[in-house]
Amino acid sequence: MAGEPFPVYLLESWGTEFPGVVAGITEAAPGADFSATRTEACSFHERLEQLAAQLGFQSVAWTRQLHGCEVRRVDPLAVGLFAPGEADGLYVCRRGILLLVMVADCVPVYLFDSAGHGTALLHAGWRGASAGILGRGIAALGEAYGTSPRELRVHLGPAICGECYEVGGEVLQAFGHARQLGGKVDLREELAGQALSLGVPADAVTRSSWCTRCHLDRFHSHRGSQGSAGRMAAFLGSREAN
Ligand SMILES: [Zn+2]
Repeated sequence: MAGEPFPVYLLESWGTEFPGVVAGITEAAPGADFSATRTEACSFHERLEQLAAQLGFQSVAWTRQLHGCEVRRVDPLAVGLFAPGEADGLYVCRRGILLLVMVADCVPVYLFDSAGHGTALLHAGWRGASAGILGRGIAALGEAYGTSPRELRVHLGPAICGECYEVGGEVLQAFGHARQLGGKVDLREELAGQALSLGVPADAVTRSSWCTRCHLDRFHSHRGSQGSAGRMAAFLGSREAN
């Protein structure tokens, strides 16, 4: 395997409660840029393979992200590197496949069905969040695997915090706020509210306290770098039983 292991932040509580579940995000470090457009395709693929191997997976799925609200099912027979097209969310119900989304300020949203083991991972910036990607992800798990929102765990990962995220009036309006002139939006607060209104129990929704912009030493931040940042890879999967 090439190079040093990528520094990763793991959501340890899920791994403890659900053996085999691996949820987390890579941290910013030299050589740990998961931007598909900024790195050579071959080195991008090598990084994906290295990350998957580091986390104990043989298959890894990602998408070309559009800041939309499309979610795609990953072929449960997928093997190796697998990109099911353009979307901002992926879901699967099979062990051994690692789902990835790339983020730098946008919220990685982790969904895990504690009863049926369906998993979904979403990329939610303001466009996707306000367009309802969380609802699409929850509905997709329900349709595909019969997942009930009552059984879901939702984690909102490291992202830009409400204090750091100044936005224009169109963003506030997209979230249904009356203010016209702009202000601040806390994306994780918005998404947590959506999760509750979609039937996820309050104690099943957790939020990272890390802000990508407040902690530029640890994370890539689009805002914090004036747009020149790399991308972190958020990941979610269930390891095959040994
Ligand atoms: Zn912040």
